[in-house]
Amino acid sequence: MPTQVDVLLLEVDADYTAILKQVIESRIPAKVTIVEKAKAARTLLENNSDKFFIGITSVLDLSTFEKVDLLSEFGLPIIAVVDQFEEEMRDQLIKRHVIDYVVKGNRFDSVYICDLISRVIKNCFIKVLVVDDSKVSRFVLERELLLQKFEVVHACNGEEALEKLSEQPDIKLVLVDSKMPVMEGYAFVQQARRLYSKDELIIIGISGSLDSRTAVQFLKAGANDFIAKPFNYEMLLCRISRNLDMLDAIDLAKSLSNTDFLSNLYNRRYFFEQGNKLIQTSIKDTLLTVMMMDIDNFKKINDGHGHDVGDLVIKNFANALKTYFPNDIVARIGGEEFAVISKSPQYLRSYDHINAFRQAVEREKIHLNDHTLHYTVSIGVCNVAGEDLDKMVVQADKNLYKAKQAGKNQVCGEVTN
Ligand code: GH3
Ligand code: MG
Ligand code: MG
Repeated sequence: MPTQVDVLLLEVDADYTAILKQVIESRIPAKVTIVEKAKAARTLLENNSDKFFIGITSVLDLSTFEKVDLLSEFGLPIIAVVDQFEEEMRDQLIKRHVIDYVVKGNRFDSVYICDLISRVIKNCFIKVLVVDDSKVSRFVLERELLLQKFEVVHACNGEEALEKLSEQPDIKLVLVDSKMPVMEGYAFVQQARRLYSKDELIIIGISGSLDSRTAVQFLKAGANDFIAKPFNYEMLLCRISRNLDMLDAIDLAKSLSNTDFLSNLYNRRYFFEQGNKLIQTSIKDTLLTVMMMDIDNFKKINDGHGHDVGDLVIKNFANALKTYFPNDIVARIGGEEFAVISKSPQYLRSYDHINAFRQAVEREKIHLNDHTLHYTVSIGVCNVAGEDLDKMVVQADKNLYKAKQAGKNQVCGEVTN
């Protein structure tokens, strides 16, 4: 995602503009430049052609689209602010391809504008596949999608679309026509659904057919949604946004259910799920390494400094783990207990890296009001040809116990080679 976007705000009225700027800059990573007159905006745009990401402008009445046309001339996605909703105004704005219009005075209008900008920022990272045999239809759809900053690729029929999906697994959304040569739309949906679930890939069917069975056919084949042609673009973009928002919500729910809230590492459930997958998909006889780690004397830290400081130590340790084991599955599996599963062969030869991590933890400093806190960790390692993650974890746990018995702050295990 761009770290910060530049928003050009053509003044609506001074008070409203100032509030809008403040709301936008406080809610999203954006810098808002306010310009009062169209002439000054033109000069600014001419001298900084690639600077602005999006433009916002007011439209007072049906005779004054000058500012909208100016932003459009420079290819900016446009959000129009209007005083009240009128059909004619809406049609004019849609015709001018504004990405949306917002009625001023609604208490939530500035928040809505922020959501719109966020959506367009996210769109920059969303690849859309347009599948249609008609060049003209593809062109018209692609133009709208490009205005919303989507990345767009296309295919001329279902078969070509399946190829594109396998070549470009980062495609998130497919807009597919129904009647096409070689492979029709709904047949494509059926095939695609065998490979990609509804929460991995959004498919929206499009058809000019007046027969309502086309919609049913698409939806039954597994499309997420259906739009009848001729559609207005407002409707199309609403449907796309709604489906993408749903996908975001599902992704968030998935990541929350896999993540430990305090450390931001994976949780126990995800560790065992992914660890077992890793074992199953590893080439036969490939050795994996499991490490069990337990912070030493953690109860004393809690008792001496309070639970909050204990939490700080957990977060600090989690960050160190992520830094030292960036390519491995790293999880918090209990209170002050952590686990790592790695397919890197380096741990089969030596524990140098694990020891370096242990020493780095020893050097960590937790700054408290009156002094600096240090802590240590004990680590048990297992690298056997494991068919079963549970057995590896038990073995690593035994070695962790040995490390504790031998005086803590050490690594125990059996280097196999
Ligand atoms: P050892 O060196 O043998 O590992 O001893 P220890 O004190 O680290 O281990 P023990 O199992 O006796 O104590 C672990 C403590 O961790 C007990 C529990 O209250 C605390 N704990 C568990 N979860 C959390 C948490 O989320 N935050 C904090 N602050 N403490 C936690
Ligand atoms: Mg402990
Ligand atoms: Mg413990």
